[in-house]
Amino acid sequence: MITRKEIADIIFPDVKETIQDLEKKYPPRANPICSRYAPSPTGFVHIWNIYAAFIEQKFAKQPGGTFFLRIEDTDQKREVEWAVNKIISWLKYFGIQIDEWPIGENNSDIGNYWPYTQSHRKDIYNVFAKYLLENGLAYPCWMTPEELEVIREQQTKTKVTPGIYGNYSVWRNKTLEEIMAQLQVNKDFVIRFRSPSEMGKRIVFEDVIKGKIETMDNCNDIVLIKSDDLPTYHLAHIADDYLMRVSHVIRGEERFASVPLHLQLFKSFNLPAPQYCHVAPLLKLDNGNKRKLSKRHDPEADILFFFENGYATQWIIEYLLTIIDPWFEEWQKINPDKSYLDFEIHLEKMPKSGALFDLVKLQSVNNNYISRISTDELYEQSLNRALKYRPELAKLMQTDIPYVKAAMNIERHTTKDPKRFTTYADVETQVKFFFDDERTKLQNSKPALPEICTAEVMKPFVDEYGQAIDLSMSVEEWFAQLKEIWKKYGFAANNAEFKEWWYIGKTWDLAMFLRIQLCCAAQTPDLYSVMQVMGKERIMKRLSNI
Ligand code: GLU
Repeated sequence: MITRKEIADIIFPDVKETIQDLEKKYPPRANPICSRYAPSPTGFVHIWNIYAAFIEQKFAKQPGGTFFLRIEDTDQKREVEWAVNKIISWLKYFGIQIDEWPIGENNSDIGNYWPYTQSHRKDIYNVFAKYLLENGLAYPCWMTPEELEVIREQQTKTKVTPGIYGNYSVWRNKTLEEIMAQLQVNKDFVIRFRSPSEMGKRIVFEDVIKGKIETMDNCNDIVLIKSDDLPTYHLAHIADDYLMRVSHVIRGEERFASVPLHLQLFKSFNLPAPQYCHVAPLLKLDNGNKRKLSKRHDPEADILFFFENGYATQWIIEYLLTIIDPWFEEWQKINPDKSYLDFEIHLEKMPKSGALFDLVKLQSVNNNYISRISTDELYEQSLNRALKYRPELAKLMQTDIPYVKAAMNIERHTTKDPKRFTTYADVETQVKFFFDDERTKLQNSKPALPEICTAEVMKPFVDEYGQAIDLSMSVEEWFAQLKEIWKKYGFAANNAEFKEWWYIGKTWDLAMFLRIQLCCAAQTPDLYSVMQVMGKERIMKRLSNI
């Protein structure tokens, strides 16, 4: 009589170890709190990934536990090493420290629970799969894609729950003899889980973030080992998170529906399940409706967006903290001297279904932050960003550093501070025009001058004002002088004057003329300060170039 052990030995002839042997290699951790970040190495980092990785790390490190990085590359045909290095540097960049990770020096793993790359863990998965085969908890399945398609169509037509279960599974109830016979002639099979549940059964479990959940149990015989001999996510999750001693599986909501299956699998192995914590997606407001922040449609889903556009990592993390717990903002006000890293997070308080990622709110966080830092720091950070993403701008910023800093400094740290900088990229609009070549480039796109400000009207004013400019004047003296001169050329000081008298234009027209001529824009920093920074010669050149 054929035994299950014989079948398992034929399928996994090289597997000699047992799960107990593996358990000895990877003993429980001294501090049992452990979480992990487990990305697939696609090279794309979604802002949600940083959100989740930050939560995972913070949660584990608060009580002195472990946080590690595991690379889930069993579906991946791309170059993994490149993507992994990228992931590691992104985490570092955001200050998310990892205790254990793949690819240290000489491509070795850092940490005792290695390997940290799933494609290097095949032998481990095979031990787990063999155990299930030996115990009749899984079976090989030779159903072809065509057979599966026929079943899928039939289930759709008859509105039956889709999947391979019960009588839909051709190989679930075959005898060991039939399986042995098939094994002799065809090696192309998958290994399916033999689900212990049946249609219609419900289960209750606890999710740390979502709370108590009652849902349909899993009755599907899902694939555990694919025909390419690699495990599916489900088997890898059980083997990895158990042996790597993960206490809290903090992961995306898209995995939530698999919890009943995962609980069944843990039970089949007689292993304790970890605590599940499903992090809700980040949402975007789109025409009044909330929808998932999408990699395809929303540039801000890509972490690169923030760097190109001059955001600092700290602002992003601080903003994410307000999503994790709205109390964070209040806490910051009460504890102005503490670092945002001192704030404790609580998984139970996190959003349960979806959280709005509001770029406008993030920008206001940035804006406040930049208004507080020194102009030297603003210069340094803006230059760093320009060096990486706008080399031409960086060159410009380095040609006359005191001039750039003076231009940046206008009205900063004053009571009137208009907070001109929202990101480090705003140098483009706030400073570039101070340079003559840039101003020339902007000439074609500058707004139209007010109608009354023709060359004929303005030339005599500019000639006289040019003679009179004195940058040592106070702002009051400067304004009084300007008013006196422009009055001569027909510009009223206010609306009332304009209506009653012979004036051809108003202060508004004049101010607009100055703004557009000096800065090529209708909205500019304070004109007096702009002129102080530009100097007389430059002002004259710009004003007379009508
Ligand atoms: N590699 C999986 C993913 O990127 C990880 C899910 C998990 O954290 O368990 O979706």
